Amino acid sequence: MKDTHKHQGLRNQLVKIISEKGITDKNVLNAIAAVPRHLFMDSGFVDFAYQDKAFPIAADQTISQPYTVAFQTQLLAIKPNQKILEIGTGSGYQTAVLIEIGAKVYTIERQLELFKKTKFFLPKLHYKPKKMVFGDGYKGLPEEAPFDGIIVTAGAPIVPNALLAQLKIGGKLVIPIGDEVQIMTLFVRNSEKDFEKHELGEFRFVPMLKEKN
Ligand code: SAH
Repeated sequence: MKDTHKHQGLRNQLVKIISEKGITDKNVLNAIAAVPRHLFMDSGFVDFAYQDKAFPIAADQTISQPYTVAFQTQLLAIKPNQKILEIGTGSGYQTAVLIEIGAKVYTIERQLELFKKTKFFLPKLHYKPKKMVFGDGYKGLPEEAPFDGIIVTAGAPIVPNALLAQLKIGGKLVIPIGDEVQIMTLFVRNSEKDFEKHELGEFRFVPMLKEKN
C-alpha cells in the first residue's frame, strides 16, 4: 500500500482534530502530519486510520489513539538527538512519531510476534530506531541508560523503579498508571533522589505485563 495525497489530506484533518483537543507543540503536530498511520494498521482497519481512535493490532494489542500519542509525546518536550526509551513498541507508530521529531529511540516489546513484525516494518519506512529489544520493559534498558525521556505506552499497575533510576537529571518519565483506568503521570528528575510528579488526567491502555516466564 502507498501513501497518497488523499492520506495526506486525512492526516491534516487529524492534526486539526488533535490541536482542537489541546495539543499545541508544533513539532508534535508536524510529526502526526508526517507519519503514515494507515501503513501501521492491519488491512481490515486501514480505512479508519485517520480517525482519532485506538484500533486492534496483532497479539491482542492496540495502536494508541493519535491524541494519546501526541499528548504523551508533547509531555516529553523532546529536543533533537535526545535519547528516548519507549516501553511497548507495538505497531511502531509512536516510535515513528518520536523519530520524526528527531529523537534517538530505544524501544522494548514483550510480544514476540509484534517485535518481529515491527522490527522488519519500520526500517522499510526509513524509521530506524537505535535499538529494538524483545524483552521486559519493567527492567528498562540499563546498558543504554541514562535517558532524556522514557515513555510507557501500556497501563502500568505500579511505577517501575528501574525506569526512574534510568533517567538523566532533568529527564522525564511519562507513564499511565492504574489498572482499569490509568492516570497519565509525568515524573521529572530534579536531582539524584528528587522526582517531581504531575498527574494529567485519565486514559485507557492495554496492560503493561510482566515477563512471560
Ligand atoms: N506504542 C504502541 C502501543 C502498543 S499497545 C503503538 O502505538 O502501537 C502497548 C504495547 O506494550 C503492546 O504491544 C504490549 O505488548 C506492550 N507491552 C506490555 N507490557 C510490556 C512490557 N512489560 N515490556 C514491553 N512491552 C510491553
